[in-house]
Amino acid sequence: SLTLGIVGLPNVGKSTLFNALTNNDVLAANYPFATIEPNVGVVPLPDPRLDELAKIHNSAKTVPAVVSFVDIAGIVKGASEGAGLGNKFLANIRESDAICQVVRVFDDPDVIHVDDRIDPASDIETISTELILADLQTLEKAVPRLTKEARMQKDRRPVLEAAEQAVSLLNGGTTPFAAGVDPEPLRELTLLTTKPFLYVFNADEGVLTDDAKRKELAELVAPADAVFLDAKVESELLELDEESSRELLESIGQSEPGLYSLARAGFHTLGLQTYLTAGPKEARAWTIPQGATAPQAAGVIHTDFERGFIKAEIVSYDDLIAAGSMAAAKAAGKMRMEGKDYVMQDGDVVEFRFNV
Ligand code: GDP
Repeated sequence: SLTLGIVGLPNVGKSTLFNALTNNDVLAANYPFATIEPNVGVVPLPDPRLDELAKIHNSAKTVPAVVSFVDIAGIVKGASEGAGLGNKFLANIRESDAICQVVRVFDDPDVIHVDDRIDPASDIETISTELILADLQTLEKAVPRLTKEARMQKDRRPVLEAAEQAVSLLNGGTTPFAAGVDPEPLRELTLLTTKPFLYVFNADEGVLTDDAKRKELAELVAPADAVFLDAKVESELLELDEESSRELLESIGQSEPGLYSLARAGFHTLGLQTYLTAGPKEARAWTIPQGATAPQAAGVIHTDFERGFIKAEIVSYDDLIAAGSMAAAKAAGKMRMEGKDYVMQDGDVVEFRFNV
């Protein structure tokens, strides 16, 4: 499955956040036999629709979609030059499908900041500079080779052109992701700066309740998603019952755990969406790439479903809730028969018909 790699300067709260990501019980509940690497944290994608579906279908349980975060050792200045853990670190980021940078905005005189001050813009630039330098090194080697290849083979030209465009963006201090460049032609080079980015601002109550400050930070990282949370509070929440959790969150002006917004943003950053199924056994959200067709969606449940796909019977979640049951929705003409070219939409409640 797709993963987000967690990066950030030392002492910004990565371990604290990761602790909160790994200590939730979603996996134990839903995937009791899964083996999870110690450096992977898996969080459920909150979806209140599942509880409603479970009520309608008398489902024995709900199974949410999940988002995986990988803990990668802290970036240090000079990583791209191979200093210390640099190369292993970069290799780990290369394997991630998206990058999640934790940025410190909390102020605490007891926690040393590596540069002796709280400066999110500068922290963001430090990391992005390291990634840019690493990619420029990769491209410096690749461009002469691609130039030769493009001379012999026409179909190598788009790759060369994309590589040259990336070099010019990176030299100007911008990443291909931030510039909205299509990552596809460059995929073979496994660059770091074409990967989607997500920023987690580890903040205290002052920032969490300051809309203007949050807007300013969100604009700093756009078009990347920005998530605001207090990592220390998130790890404390795991020890509390629902009532005390709510009180603690309210005391810092939050209506839900920060991990919820992190899960949603991570899912969005990875380019994923869900569709829903429901029956007596479970009400479940299935993960598919945005833009997946009905047979591809069926293939997520079982590869045989994709091969033998006949059609999908689909009711939109809102129509199902309004009708009260699948049968009532069907009687009301709200059930659609979709074929193999149908592109799945968020909120589709689906039953697949297939040959085995
Ligand atoms: P890492 O080096 O990025 O993994 O940072 P850690 O998670 O180890 O955090 C460094 C220190 O900052 C620890 O003492 C944490 O308890 C503290 N810390 C982490 N998050 C917060 C926060 O949101 N607020 C405050 N005040 N301290 C935090």
